[in-house]
Amino acid sequence: MRTTMPTKSVYLETMGCQMNVLDSELVLGQLRRLGYESTRNIQAADVILFNTCSVRDHAEQKVLSKLGALRQLKSAHPDRVIGVIGCMAERDPNGLISKMPHVDLVCGPGELNKIPALIEDVRVNRTRAIALARSFSRKSTPLQRAVEFDSVEALDLSREPAPETRVLQSYIRVQRGCDKFCTFCVVPFTRGPERSRPPQHIVDEARMLADRGAKEVTLLGQTVNSYVHAENGRPVRFAELLARVADVDGIERVRFVTSYPGDFTDDIFEVMRELPKVCEYLHLPVQSGSNTMLKRMRRQYTVEQYVELIEKARARVPGLTIASDFIVGFCGETEADHEQTLQLIERCRFKNIFVFKYSPRPGTVAHKHDDDVPDEIKRRRNGELLSLQDRIATIHNERLIGSTVQVLVEGYSKAALKAQQAEQTRGEEVGWRRRDQLVGRTRTDRIVVFAGQPQHIGRFADVRVTGTTSLTLHGTLVNNESPLNPAEPSNRPLALPILASG
Ligand code: SF4
Repeated sequence: MRTTMPTKSVYLETMGCQMNVLDSELVLGQLRRLGYESTRNIQAADVILFNTCSVRDHAEQKVLSKLGALRQLKSAHPDRVIGVIGCMAERDPNGLISKMPHVDLVCGPGELNKIPALIEDVRVNRTRAIALARSFSRKSTPLQRAVEFDSVEALDLSREPAPETRVLQSYIRVQRGCDKFCTFCVVPFTRGPERSRPPQHIVDEARMLADRGAKEVTLLGQTVNSYVHAENGRPVRFAELLARVADVDGIERVRFVTSYPGDFTDDIFEVMRELPKVCEYLHLPVQSGSNTMLKRMRRQYTVEQYVELIEKARARVPGLTIASDFIVGFCGETEADHEQTLQLIERCRFKNIFVFKYSPRPGTVAHKHDDDVPDEIKRRRNGELLSLQDRIATIHNERLIGSTVQVLVEGYSKAALKAQQAEQTRGEEVGWRRRDQLVGRTRTDRIVVFAGQPQHIGRFADVRVTGTTSLTLHGTLVNNESPLNPAEPSNRPLALPILASG
């Protein structure tokens, strides 16, 4: 229910993962119900919030630099509320406050439903407000500690997208926290133990989003495939959850990220194969191609088990694409370890990969080891992984030229938005092809750009692939009679209107 408070504005900047993107959406929803308007003008905002990431030092340094730049604004306008929320707040609140004493509000990711009260506290009592989960208990199993109601559940249940919020593709949290304790990672410390949300809450959320126009939902969890929740005395696991979400009318595509290789069960592949709404795409981070490194990272699988898993996945789910994450330059990584990672990439034929240079994080086990790979070597290894992947993806994408893929049209491409802006600001004619370039996504998570009309946005379209780069397909709209590409089973027909060519 909306209050009659005068309108105030909030600037919220989000760093990091999809979980943070969802958290920010939910925080903004809570503030909107209290009469706040979202603004992009940081200088004029009544409340300035940074939703932070602690996975790499670089991300934290960026936030500190942004906060430092706000010192003057705060001293000129002491009534402005400046807050740091998310993982960085939870990881090192004291360090943050000592470096940035003008920060008024510090709130960890497990306490985000308290933000309206914290802001009020700062305003009324002129004091710093802090909410952190700090000591997480891990005495029980994930099944025993599955959440029914807690503060983050309250935040998720409060979800009510603003009329202007884009819900076409939406995230739904299904699980929080992580119990894996990979030696390089801060997430188990900042987001706490693994807890799964009740399946009915998740299905209700999917239904609400479908009613608001969502066609695609992505189920989010740190190790999403290990989802488990006790319902009426029996465990509901991830495969069953996927099936229940896929059953929601109006939702046409279901994705999920991020999967943990050690926790995959065959029933998930069965659901991916049998249910047309579940997309043939996996994000399955391996981190290294060296068993020595995997052991040192405390990943609970070997290279051989990972390869066996993706071979099984591809055999069970036709047309599956797989993306992966890698860390280069982890403690003690030798040239031989790096070479094994290159061999793994060569062998696995990923759709795309994300590569990160190892960055030691305080509080983790790896932080106690030597960060002994010099930065220039990390940079070189990073580049080598990316150029190998680039070559593999280019070859694979070229095979798609001439085929037709089905995309969900997400909006204008970046180039089109730039062109439209140039037209508006400088009165330049950029030509309809650039101005009207749309971007869509296949079920297998390939990005496709093509010329179209605004009315195509938010709908499914068939696009004939005419050119490619390693990351993008280029194409032209075709009509419904086009043959679907058998190599891209993402084209399984859906019960949806297909667009005429543009
Ligand atoms: S599985 Fe490992 S890398 Fe992923 S969130 Fe958990 S601890 Fe971090």
